[in-house]
Amino acid sequence: MYRLAVAVDTPQHAGLGDVLDYEAADAWAPGTLVRVPLGKRETLGVVWQADDDAPDASAADGSPVVLKAVIEALGSLPPLPPAWCALVSFTARYYQRALGEVALSVLPPELRKLDDAGLLKRLRKLDKALGLLPPPAPKRKRKSAAAEVAQAAEIATELAVEPHDTPTTAAEAPQRPPLTPEQDTVLASLTADFNAAQPACHLLHGVTGSGKTEVYLRAAEHALSIGRQALVLVPEINLTPQLEQRFAERFPGRKLVSLHSGLTAAQRLQNWLAAHLGHADLVLGTRLAIFCPLPRLGLIVVDEEHDPSYKQQDGARYSARDLAVYRGRLERAPVVLGSATPSLESWQHAQTGRYRLLTMAQRVGQGVLPAVRIIDMKTQPRPPRGQEPPALAPPLLAAVKERIERGEQSLLFLNRRGFAPVLHCTACDWKSGCPHCSAWRVFHKLDRTLRCHHCGFTERVPRACPDCGNQDIQPMGRGTERLEEQMAEALPGARVARIDADTTRLKGTLEQQLAAVHAGDVDVLIGTQMVTKGHDFRRVTLVAAVNPDSALFTADFRAPERLFATLMQAGGRAGRDAEAAARSEMWVQTSVPEHPLFAALRKHDFDAFAASQLTERDMAGLPPFSHLALLRCEAREAAVAEDFLKAARDLARSLLPAEQLTDVMFYAPVPPHVAKVAGFERRQMLVEGPTRPLLQRLLAVWTPALPALRSQHKGIVRWAIDVDPLSI
Ligand code: ADP
Ligand code: ZN
Ligand code: ZN
Repeated sequence: MYRLAVAVDTPQHAGLGDVLDYEAADAWAPGTLVRVPLGKRETLGVVWQADDDAPDASAADGSPVVLKAVIEALGSLPPLPPAWCALVSFTARYYQRALGEVALSVLPPELRKLDDAGLLKRLRKLDKALGLLPPPAPKRKRKSAAAEVAQAAEIATELAVEPHDTPTTAAEAPQRPPLTPEQDTVLASLTADFNAAQPACHLLHGVTGSGKTEVYLRAAEHALSIGRQALVLVPEINLTPQLEQRFAERFPGRKLVSLHSGLTAAQRLQNWLAAHLGHADLVLGTRLAIFCPLPRLGLIVVDEEHDPSYKQQDGARYSARDLAVYRGRLERAPVVLGSATPSLESWQHAQTGRYRLLTMAQRVGQGVLPAVRIIDMKTQPRPPRGQEPPALAPPLLAAVKERIERGEQSLLFLNRRGFAPVLHCTACDWKSGCPHCSAWRVFHKLDRTLRCHHCGFTERVPRACPDCGNQDIQPMGRGTERLEEQMAEALPGARVARIDADTTRLKGTLEQQLAAVHAGDVDVLIGTQMVTKGHDFRRVTLVAAVNPDSALFTADFRAPERLFATLMQAGGRAGRDAEAAARSEMWVQTSVPEHPLFAALRKHDFDAFAASQLTERDMAGLPPFSHLALLRCEAREAAVAEDFLKAARDLARSLLPAEQLTDVMFYAPVPPHVAKVAGFERRQMLVEGPTRPLLQRLLAVWTPALPALRSQHKGIVRWAIDVDPLSI
């Protein structure tokens, strides 16, 4: 018998406590999926280590240990490659989560339901779908580990035949535009890197419309031409269909799969299998795709690398962007991080030479960036008493009308869905608060509901004020629903459309709505952040940020960086058509026009903005000049949460010698932006270290000690460590 160390998903927190020993008749290779008993359940695990030399397990005192036996190995599947295991180990260690939890959470959920026979069926189905080879012969009962491993290897090679190019006829041959000089330079640098002993991480800083996607396509083409696979990450599911289409058109003979949470469980498994077995040449996906095993990985692209969606916000709070960089180094694959507004972390690495900076400063063709106009809302005429100011300042409204007359499109960006963020009683000052959260409930007019966007609590709008019975309850402020209504009134005859999470709930509706915009069936498009990313709208000549200020008034030190990126990206939707580019405009309504970010925005000067932000961060000792971890917790009572955090701080100080901690700063526990959600008080404590290794050394001893501390603090319902937190 052999002893196998198997990673399983136990409720244990961090450390290697969740790699359990089992015995098996065969020495299954590390990376093999196995079904094992765990308590009263049967569960999926991943062999982490196979110990041929220690067939007889014994405890420290010499007494024999009785190991439970592996129930079944999913031997039809080639083991997950060592690089996958290494990436998962790193993720668990760095983000302070249990190894088994990470390993199991990044595998397609469907795998948990399958035994080996079921898996074999799926593999045959996949073969049939691909039309590659006759199904493998039915498997006989296995004898020895050696035979087993040989068989697995055989299946792996059988399944992993190189997909043959389907010959493309002349008509089908993809159109490749000649590269611009900037694209040419960037690609030469990238392709040269494929031969490097240790390929670099490249930061592609290209303005919106500079043709970054074409660079990704050509880099992928190069990877494919040398027999490698390419992995392309995008921040949002919404952006996968259009990217998928562009890649599919460019690589008609190649197998392309997508991986994101919008797929059915069966589809996700099938695509994952195609990637793992080497059938798929191209994998496009959202952050979870970073864990997709790829035996021939040759390129990783992270599009819009600055986007906060790359950070997972629960469980293992990993950054797929940062893991892409790690994985590239691990598997010796070039990495391309692309953005018009890189994260300051990546930008700083490019300045110090850790990343290689590639720049594309020009729009393709005759495209130019839109002229930016900042409207000072403080100087706009005041509305009559008791009335709210109009959504658009008069000069902006006039500019929109001009566009309509010329048959051009305007995009009005307002990052707040619903009709109004709060309802208000004019008699007694009642407001539509959520009883379970420290937040207002948003008024949705279409179905006349008050909805909490934090806990989901939804009620019909009351006919009268619940406190005083007054019938005059009024919306305060403006969401996209209301803006749509007001624009329809202000612009009679105009075709006004709205795209946000509420209008796109049904599958396929987003595509339909975008198609209508592209077809020119819309004059004024109102939308949340959803419409500001990635889309190549050709007819838009005016983009307006209706009310961006609220994004600035938070305690988060990243607020200006994020708003700048959002506005640059929104502005990037205008002026993509060469003919109309010269009269394209980006309007911003703000009551703090003196904020330096608007001056940089006006000049489209990312470099200057980044430089000023980095100077501030350096002086304040904030990332990227320091490293952060956030301990969050939730309790029924705020005092309980605060006590836990203070005790955790004292514990941390007792774990490392004081001289090692002199440069580590523990901030006071504070409530986050929304302090109470679904009845639980949230508190958080920031820990700042001057270097990553020092912070990691602290976390490595601190996190494992926290479960015991929690058991002394009875009221704590949840706690979590967030390493490199994005929103604080
Ligand atoms: P980005 O991702 O940098 O915002 P895109 O890749 O969307 O830019 O490119 C903007 C537009 O320019 C797209 O319509 C694209 O098809 C076109 N384009 C890109 N590269 C070229 C090129 N070399 N020649 C002609 N058109 C190009
Ligand atoms: Zn009232
Ligand atoms: Zn709520």
